[in-house]
Amino acid sequence: MKNSHINKVIFAGAGPGAPDLITLRCLSAIKDADLIIYAGSLVNPEILKYAKKNSKTIDSSGMTLSEIISEIKKAWEKKQKVLRLHTGDPAIYGAIAEQMTELDKLKIPYEIIPGVSSVFAAAAEIKSELTTPGTSQTVILTRTSGKTPVPQGQELQKLAQHKATLAIFLSTPFISKITNELICGGYDKNTPVAVIYKASWADQKIIRGNIANIAKKIKKANINRQAIILVGDVLNKKKWQKSKLYDPEFSHNFRNKITSSKAKLISLSSNTNKFKGKIAIFTITKTSLNTAKKITQNKNHCKIFAPQKLKKYCNKSIILYKELGKTLKENWKKFDAFIFIMAAGIVVRYISNLITEKTIDPAVVVCDQYGNYAISLLSGHIGGANRLAEDIAALLNGQPVITTATDNCRIIAFDEMASRENYKIINPKLIKKFNVMLLENKKIAIHLPKNIFDKYYSKNKNLKYITNCSLVNRKNYSGLVTTKKIKIKIPQLIIKKNEQSK
Ligand code: SAH
Repeated sequence: MKNSHINKVIFAGAGPGAPDLITLRCLSAIKDADLIIYAGSLVNPEILKYAKKNSKTIDSSGMTLSEIISEIKKAWEKKQKVLRLHTGDPAIYGAIAEQMTELDKLKIPYEIIPGVSSVFAAAAEIKSELTTPGTSQTVILTRTSGKTPVPQGQELQKLAQHKATLAIFLSTPFISKITNELICGGYDKNTPVAVIYKASWADQKIIRGNIANIAKKIKKANINRQAIILVGDVLNKKKWQKSKLYDPEFSHNFRNKITSSKAKLISLSSNTNKFKGKIAIFTITKTSLNTAKKITQNKNHCKIFAPQKLKKYCNKSIILYKELGKTLKENWKKFDAFIFIMAAGIVVRYISNLITEKTIDPAVVVCDQYGNYAISLLSGHIGGANRLAEDIAALLNGQPVITTATDNCRIIAFDEMASRENYKIINPKLIKKFNVMLLENKKIAIHLPKNIFDKYYSKNKNLKYITNCSLVNRKNYSGLVTTKKIKIKIPQLIIKKNEQSK
């Protein structure tokens, strides 16, 4: 570092809150400092434990600018090391400009250590990229006017016209005003919004919704100022497109074409095979009932079940039940899928006696009552629960939770392919064995209609399309996927077209 012998006042970003999200440079500034003035409202006091014993720490939250500058000046004149700690990164709403102006006047030198801004901690916590191709390549960091007015031309309504990703600081108390301005500015009311309260802190909260419903949700959750509002289609996973950077068909200066078989396999997110079939939605509280109503608005063939105590919130089409277990049992065979809007534990206990086997069990998806998560619990492939969980999560702007290994490796399992194409697996006991072969990159011969092979497997070099089964043997293949059993001792997964479609 240049002029390191000069005693400079240090402005440092202390990150979003988690003590292990400060930079190493900030940590050594804390260890070195004689005086630390920190923004107590958002800087985690935990990090002050790294300060040396005889250092002095002052919380600036109740101080004026001139009081802060006077403390800095006094210490600096005594040749003490002064550290001014700001939340996140000091360059964003850190009010360091006015402090630097005063220090310039006093000819006190200073430097700045950047930090992890809360906007990036928030994006990390909701597992989002803020710049996904096809949705937004621009992020606007902004706020609404509070005590500090926003200059003309930078009102949310104007910024909304860009349809960029918005990160709105300092503004949660004005959420209703914000959503109105966004709609007036041209955002669709279904545009996803995530509000992240105290990102990276132990008491962090994440509220997801859309422009139309987020105000209600965050008022209910009693979220105050220490939250950031993220808005934009980038929060909708369904709209994510692949970047060119890691496209196997695209080489750039640093990398030749990728040859990884995984990269070449068909992407699950391109799945347009929506779940088809009759769905029962079981609710137990008023909030879960509202979530169920949101689902049925967008889906046909859904029947809602609600406890009798919620009668006054139910129209005639909703079925009221006295005992969940009994009603569930009576309806278990009547539906293709069940969505339970309640804790997963309750569901596991109720369905455990009703489950029989993979090929006939219905799809089961569990949702928390706010629709933050849609968990595929049972019959992920054949029953279609994985697809249903993805559908539901997209509808509710939540996160699908899919645990089947093939899906997580972005491979379409054979039972999933069969279900999508309305085929039936004749010997389902072998499904697991074949899916393990897929995961382990074993060579498998595929004797299925060419269009199906092309759609799902043509890019996987371990899967070979064959027209003549007699050429298949144990030496060259670990298994055969076929519509007709052949007389060779090799594991064969036999798949037949369903005569009756659901
Ligand atoms: N310099 C800071 C922002 C300071 S302004 C940064 O880079 O993050 C204070 C505002 O930042 C708060 O009103 C809130 O909108 C946001 N903020 C700061 N820390 C936050 C956190 N941990 N989680 C969510 N929002 C946070």
